[in-house]
Amino acid sequence: MTVARTKYLLSCSCGRQTKVDSTQAGLTLTCRCGAKLDVPTLRDLEQLPRLEEPPRQRAARESTWGPRQALTLVGLLVSGFSLLWGAYLYATTPLEPVRPKFAINHRMLQQQMDRMTLNQTFALWTQLAKGLNPKPHGAIQAYKARMKSYHEFVHQRRDWIAADVVLGVVGLFVIAVARFAMRPASPH
Ligand SMILES: [Zn+2]
Repeated sequence: MTVARTKYLLSCSCGRQTKVDSTQAGLTLTCRCGAKLDVPTLRDLEQLPRLEEPPRQRAARESTWGPRQALTLVGLLVSGFSLLWGAYLYATTPLEPVRPKFAINHRMLQQQMDRMTLNQTFALWTQLAKGLNPKPHGAIQAYKARMKSYHEFVHQRRDWIAADVVLGVVGLFVIAVARFAMRPASPH
């Protein structure tokens, strides 16, 4: 990285301004008008007006690769990974198993019975006589097992989601530090 030496403007009584830098501190220069110009010492040089750097040159200096840019990249990578991981976690988390429904819809049953033959009504009656709401045991057991593994999965998943959120916040924080706390010093 090249360090641009700050240029100062030394004014002459003739109105011309001569560019000087710190290597010329304490020297005596000759203005184009012929007058002798004493360049101030290093300490007093700061009092002189500075020559403005051309904006393009300054922009080029600020955009060069440095710790700030490296940290920004790290922050972007971390938060980008967090986003991808979050999307993966979202996409691979199953929905809660649906509880099987066994409740008898009485109105529907009534309408069906109205259109049933005598034999069908009798068959239904014998079935209902065994119990109004018989629960198919196997289906309930399977549902409970699915629910149990679902809860175990979600419990683990919750930890990963929390870790992913923390990672995302860390990434954004790193970017914020690079962007605001490591702002390059203004040349003025
Ligand atoms: Zn002069």
